[in-house]
Amino acid sequence: MNRVAIIGGGLTGLSTAYYLGQAQPSWQIDVYEKESRFGGKIKTKRVDGYVVEVGPDSYLARKQAMTDLINELGLGETIVTNATGQAFIYNDNRMFPIPGGAIVGIPTEFVPFAKSTLLSWPGKFRAMQDYFKSPYPTDGDVSIGEFFRYHLGNEMMDKLIEPLLSGIYGGNIYELSLDATFPEFHSMERKYGNMVKGMLAARKQRGASGTKPSGQFRQLTGGLESIIDALVAQMPSNVTLYKNTDVTSIEKVAAGYVLGGTVMTPYNELIITTPPQSYGAWFKEDSKFNELISMDLSSCAIAIMGFDRASFDAPLNGTGFVITRKCKTPLTACTYISVKWPQTTPEDRVVLRVFMGKPGDDTVQRLDEESLKELALEEIQKIMNFTAKPLWTELTRLNKSMPQYKVGHRDMIARLTAYANKAYPGLHMIGTPFDGVGMPDGVRQAKTLVDKQFSNR
Ligand SMILES: Cc1cc2nc3c(=O)[nH]c(=O)nc-3n(C[C@H](O)[C@H](O)[C@H](O)COP(=O)(O)OP(=O)(O)OC[C@H]3O[C@@H](n4cnc5c(N)ncnc54)[C@H](O)[C@@H]3O)c2cc1C
Repeated sequence: MNRVAIIGGGLTGLSTAYYLGQAQPSWQIDVYEKESRFGGKIKTKRVDGYVVEVGPDSYLARKQAMTDLINELGLGETIVTNATGQAFIYNDNRMFPIPGGAIVGIPTEFVPFAKSTLLSWPGKFRAMQDYFKSPYPTDGDVSIGEFFRYHLGNEMMDKLIEPLLSGIYGGNIYELSLDATFPEFHSMERKYGNMVKGMLAARKQRGASGTKPSGQFRQLTGGLESIIDALVAQMPSNVTLYKNTDVTSIEKVAAGYVLGGTVMTPYNELIITTPPQSYGAWFKEDSKFNELISMDLSSCAIAIMGFDRASFDAPLNGTGFVITRKCKTPLTACTYISVKWPQTTPEDRVVLRVFMGKPGDDTVQRLDEESLKELALEEIQKIMNFTAKPLWTELTRLNKSMPQYKVGHRDMIARLTAYANKAYPGLHMIGTPFDGVGMPDGVRQAKTLVDKQFSNR
């Protein structure tokens, strides 16, 4: 009988087990999770009528793998779309509306862009000159920052694109790989010549299909953790889930792999779904893994605060704001959860989700949790100009949690995978270090791995 071990009981590991258990019902599949709970970074707080995500918050609807999994688990009817509304940029102590029609900050409609008070006229002219620009002068990979600066100029970068894009990866966009993070912009540029023409074409297409822009994000009424609960409850019977089991070593033997800290039976095959730093304990003797093990990870803290609506003394215009990097605050963004996701919050309450952790600023790692809570409150009160005190604050500190796909990431992963395929037969590596850092990316990688490598045996 084939025996397969999966390391990591987060969303990626559990979905792999779920799909593999179905594809090969006669195999024995064991999942090892070092913590006392499954779900990894996904954590939902369900108390007193609140359903609040303290880890990841929602997923991008266009990434279909996640919706497919949710439907398969019978949770499709609990999917909720975000309420749309004006989002803002905070700069120079003021809130500026993000120009209507902008896609990740890139304008697609002339009038709202021209009217925007966020950008100076020279900044607007520089961005519009992109219409006449040719593609970025390289065929290879380039940083997100360099690419957009070339097309749209410094002011657009600093005030619009940088705060919007850096929030997703929590890192320095002048180091992050365009091909590994937003490959669609590179292909759009190749097709249309520049960003403005590409964006105008995208807008035309949207208009032609008659679809109005709607909420792009999805949550579940029971919270994201309900996906984890459903996966655990509906796991095929040939899958065994082990908690509190730290896999301390991986030894390659003739029959496959022996895992330290587990029942030690050799497994024919091994699937790893953990973050990059965990490879340090297993492959430190093999220098080919060095780039993976030493991959940069950004840190952030999220302070989620619940307020009494009656005494909340600031207007909640729109759904939230992002903060430009040059503002003197460790905060990077704030989402009005009770506006964007009304189903998460009792009607008489307001919930804010405040993000901290700028590239190059170690506040998040330096301060203890109480100090971070105090700092988040002090700063958000200053920015939004209110005095109300929260009824509760939940702080999640995610130290070194978000892999940074630097320029050349795809090549690095291709080199490593080609090497591992030869040197470690039966070893499969998926998850956030490899091909996408979002939840749906993990589910997609799980499904693709099972379909391509395991289904036809
Ligand atoms: C601040 C932040 C905000 C985010 N927001 C979003 C969002 O809004 N939307 C979105 O789509 N994505 C978001 N993400 C990304 C999302 O959290 C991840 O894509 C997803 O949780 C990854 O799941 P995973 O199973 O691959 O990894 P993880 O959740 O990291 O799970 C890996 C598991 O492996 C276990 N493990 C590690 N080492 C060992 C070992 N030696 N032995 C056994 N087990 C081990 C860990 O305990 C963990 O449970 C966010 C990430 C961060 C950091």
